[in-house]
Amino acid sequence: MSELHDECGVFGIYKNNENMNIADETYLALYALQHRGQIGAGIAVNKDGNMKYFKGHGMIPEAIPEKELSRLGSGRIALGHVKYSSGEAVDHENLAPLVMRYIKGQLAICMNGSITNFSELREELNQGAAIFQSNGDTEVIAYVIARERIKTASIEDAVKNAVKKLKGAYAIALMSPSKLIGVRDPMGIRPLCYGKIGDSYVIASESCVFDSLGGEFIRDVKPGEMIVVDDEGLHSYQVMESSKTALCIFEYVYFSRPDTVLDGVSVARARQRAGELLAKQHPIEADFVCGVPDCGIESAIGYSMESGIKYATGLIKNKYIGRAFNDRKKNNEYLMRIKLNALKHNVEGKRVIVIDDSILKGATSRHIVDLLRAAGAKEVHMRIASPMFINPCYLTSDTTPKEDLIASRMTCEEICRYIGADSLGFLSAESLPSIAKECKLDFCDACFTGNYPLDISDMSRTDKYSQKIE
Ligand code: SF4
Repeated sequence: MSELHDECGVFGIYKNNENMNIADETYLALYALQHRGQIGAGIAVNKDGNMKYFKGHGMIPEAIPEKELSRLGSGRIALGHVKYSSGEAVDHENLAPLVMRYIKGQLAICMNGSITNFSELREELNQGAAIFQSNGDTEVIAYVIARERIKTASIEDAVKNAVKKLKGAYAIALMSPSKLIGVRDPMGIRPLCYGKIGDSYVIASESCVFDSLGGEFIRDVKPGEMIVVDDEGLHSYQVMESSKTALCIFEYVYFSRPDTVLDGVSVARARQRAGELLAKQHPIEADFVCGVPDCGIESAIGYSMESGIKYATGLIKNKYIGRAFNDRKKNNEYLMRIKLNALKHNVEGKRVIVIDDSILKGATSRHIVDLLRAAGAKEVHMRIASPMFINPCYLTSDTTPKEDLIASRMTCEEICRYIGADSLGFLSAESLPSIAKECKLDFCDACFTGNYPLDISDMSRTDKYSQKIE
């Protein structure tokens, strides 16, 4: 139950099946990506170059009411987006897809990730008298594409030139009046894949979307690759080269859904392996092992299989908490109590090993230990299916400051005392890459090691978010 905020999720579809309603398909796809963001969602539908869209705050049913979905109608191309969950308020202008009008008609765009040269690009655009509605990366990217489009013969060339100006980690989905385009950053830090539903092409942040829609996963978009779908089919262009790759390893730990296969590796299998490794690295005697829902479950199963200690449910998560509740109950402790409960029947009088995906600030872990003790656990041994999280991530939508990361100022023993556990063990940083050993890409593991795959020295989130439009 990571305290790191979720990622965003992107989706795009180019319809080749006459009977398909692509607004409905996009709506369903966003349900499959809901875990990547709960603060807002949006859908844009393109019918003959005329784009209708709707964006709203909250989880899918709150964000996109039925009547708005019907109003979007159907069309040839559609984009969908779920926005990350964060403590900060997100203005309506910062929800996606962003739909804009420019010299070539309309353009819709959404993304997952973070542009590290945002401030520089925005300043350059500001000097050219650009007028911004939002304070996010997406609008800056849209502007850069629009400026390139004036100089180029096609939208593909404009996007190709524009992405070369971006630094950072991103998966972008966009639609022009006649094309659907997806681009993955040159190091493959953020995930993006494509597949088919019947004859229609689909791009998405995760492969679980294809299963949910009854479609077929084709492959991951390669680092630096641009996928273009038009009335002649799908075209692939290698638009950027990089000497290294750096897939975000936290996708396996937390961001992605367990039924996703990411760059050739099952997320569920990676989590199980983390649990197996934890059992070897931090063995302890106990009556049963349980996982913190959702992301700790697979690792707990792995720990159980490797150690021979039985697996049982120790914690129950309330899955029906929407944004309205989050807004009403600002008290974190109260919120955590509503979100999670211990299963007293299983826990009472037992020595419990509890597995979670990560520890950022420590408050959630302390709460979990408290819950298990209050339910009568004799001993609580916490195991974490990732290493100590000591550095901020500048390559996702969320940057928890270093001073808030408990592992940046406390040792493992001190954290153990702080959360009130009988013992605590983290997966070693050296063994982390082996959880996804079949992956052909190298990994970013900077939040654990400090080895950022790209220069983040000019990345100041404070500056970035202070550029609010008055
Ligand atoms: S710093 Fe961590 S969370 Fe951020 S991209 Fe790298 S591995 Fe992923």
